[in-house]
Amino acid sequence: MFEIVIGLEVHVQLNTKTKIFCSCPTSFAHEQNTNTCPTCLALPGALPVLNIEAVRKAMSFGYAVNATVNQRSIFNRKSYFYPDSPKAYQISQFDVPIVEHGELFLDLEDDTTKRVGITRAHLEADAGKSIHEGAISKVDLNRADTPLLEIVSDPDMRSADEAVLYLKKLHSIVRYLDISDANMQEGSFRCDVNVSIRPKGQQEFGTRVEIKNINSFKFVKAAIQYEVQRQIEAYEDGYYEQEVYQETRLWDVAKGVTKSMRGKEDSADYRYFPDPDLRPVLVTDEMMEEAKKIPELPDAKVARYVDKLGIKHYDAVVICAQKEMAYYFEAMLESNIAPKTAVTWLTSELLGRLNKAGHDITESPVDAKTLGTLVSKIEDNTISGKGAKDVLDYMMESDSRDIDAIIDELGLAQVSDDSAILAIIDDVIARNQDKVAEYKSGKDKLFGFFVGQTMKASKGSANPAKVNELLKERLG
Ligand code: ADP
Ligand code: MG
Ligand code: ZN
Repeated sequence: MFEIVIGLEVHVQLNTKTKIFCSCPTSFAHEQNTNTCPTCLALPGALPVLNIEAVRKAMSFGYAVNATVNQRSIFNRKSYFYPDSPKAYQISQFDVPIVEHGELFLDLEDDTTKRVGITRAHLEADAGKSIHEGAISKVDLNRADTPLLEIVSDPDMRSADEAVLYLKKLHSIVRYLDISDANMQEGSFRCDVNVSIRPKGQQEFGTRVEIKNINSFKFVKAAIQYEVQRQIEAYEDGYYEQEVYQETRLWDVAKGVTKSMRGKEDSADYRYFPDPDLRPVLVTDEMMEEAKKIPELPDAKVARYVDKLGIKHYDAVVICAQKEMAYYFEAMLESNIAPKTAVTWLTSELLGRLNKAGHDITESPVDAKTLGTLVSKIEDNTISGKGAKDVLDYMMESDSRDIDAIIDELGLAQVSDDSAILAIIDDVIARNQDKVAEYKSGKDKLFGFFVGQTMKASKGSANPAKVNELLKERLG
């Protein structure tokens, strides 16, 4: 039996307005090579100037994962050449990164958590893009020198599912912090997966293989499963040494396999040395205090929802995973409704309808305040739960948000008035004298029959709690 060992490197594109070492915009440009200047084109003599916003965002991330934020960190040159990198080196951080020794917690299925160490997070400059068109290759440097935060985990994950949980948690955190758009398809959240196996009980790690180019959570899982299988087969067939060596592989989406791309460089190959054009980064105490001001993050939110609002752990995890969902939920509560009811209306009623329409919470046609108000109308007995569902259905298809008008239009106003309900009950009793006799002779189960008849006669408009109460009175 084998144990799987996984460590992840994630490149998060920071959402600063300008690049990391020049004032070119990071925003999308229609024309290739227009978001460029002598510095990001690496023309001789042009000097880099560090963007303080990138530093601030990296620091906030550090505090979000309980890490050490180094007051002094160093930019190094990492030597390698690709056509899309005009400097012939990448500016990155090496032995003194801005953030190290952090941690993050995975929410496992059994409601427990698992700690994963974050080795380090360092700032670096992105490369441009090579565009291959048949025999012609072009280079677009609009993306060159966009700020990246590379977040490296300890080799703490033990399954493909844990790796995906880690990525989702990290994704959630950087979105809460608003330091990145973190869009996997668009490449602002990219991940490299390091995978090895070892026989259960063995102390030393096996040889790690790095898989690059994985752009969805689904592919991360598939790539790990494929790679683990490949390594186990090599081990069992006696070819582990020959077939599993430190290398970089690519995930081939079409074939569903990992393919060898190149042998893995080790750090000596990169000829790291401190960039003589950039002084050490020194952050002030004031910057540190500022960077500590971060929003409430998913773990703290889940704890608060469970302890203070009495929400089930599982539901809290689901709601807090996406900041837009948590903020929607919190805005619903401003209508002073019971948190548990709000959970049901958000996760079952609204999300159910959104899923059907292929929307996510950010595209909901019904905003949180409106949904909160609607739920409050159930709680104050203006309408029944069933009536509220009809109103929600109506609003999903229409622009009207005047809930009272919709209740009128659909005739959903609930009758709570005793005399009106009693009139219906008396009628039901008069029409069912035989059942009344049976009930009185001990057939308790018939109570449900009377409730049903009364609700039906009121066309669902009677307040069920009132119906129960008044029926008990009438039937003695
Ligand atoms: P490099 O830049 O050379 O890939 P890093 O130190 O940046 O090196 O990243 C190494 C990654 O590989 C880390 O996420 C680490 O946890 C992981 N890792 C190291 N050893 C193993 C191993 N034996 N099996 C799986 N992952 C590993
Ligand atoms: Mg790597
Ligand atoms: Zn520039």
